[in-house]
Amino acid sequence: MKKMGESVVGRKALFLDRDGVINHDPGDYTKSLAEFTVLPGVIETLKVWHDAGYLLIVVTNQAGIDKGLYTEETVHGIHQYVQGLCVQAGFSIAQFYFCPHHPDFSGRCLCRKPGSLMVEKGLHKFDLDPSQCLIIGDKQRDLDAAAAAGVGGVLIETNDKIPLPEEVFEM
Ligand SMILES: [Mg+2]
Ligand SMILES: [Zn+2]
Repeated sequence: MKKMGESVVGRKALFLDRDGVINHDPGDYTKSLAEFTVLPGVIETLKVWHDAGYLLIVVTNQAGIDKGLYTEETVHGIHQYVQGLCVQAGFSIAQFYFCPHHPDFSGRCLCRKPGSLMVEKGLHKFDLDPSQCLIIGDKQRDLDAAAAAGVGGVLIETNDKIPLPEEVFEM
């Protein structure tokens, strides 16, 4: 039996690509925290989604790890930094998933988008209803990864603003 206040059905999440959506994507890898710049207004917009009842889940390909450009620790540090900004603003990101693989190094994996494993992990871990979830990404492969798990998506231009919920739902 579920406790009071625990939602049984319809838990929803906003899945987010990272580079070019949350932070400025220079078109190359973000190799360090020093190179990581949050795009203007992102934290405020994420708070609006959070306050509208969406869990926030980041799903990001980080093949630079496989390529030896940076380490998993670097990525964890960057995600801790983002989480700190969110916590300061009064909310938090529920989960960060990243795929460290590149097919030339570790061979094919299921997590690298357009693979759907990161999205599926989020759906399972948080008992989400895919039809109530959404992904925002700047590459078609972000949307393809989510679509394979039954989650719809919104494609934005790289480094453009994340739409607010009302902007998405009037589309
Ligand atoms: Mg991206
Ligand atoms: Zn992977």
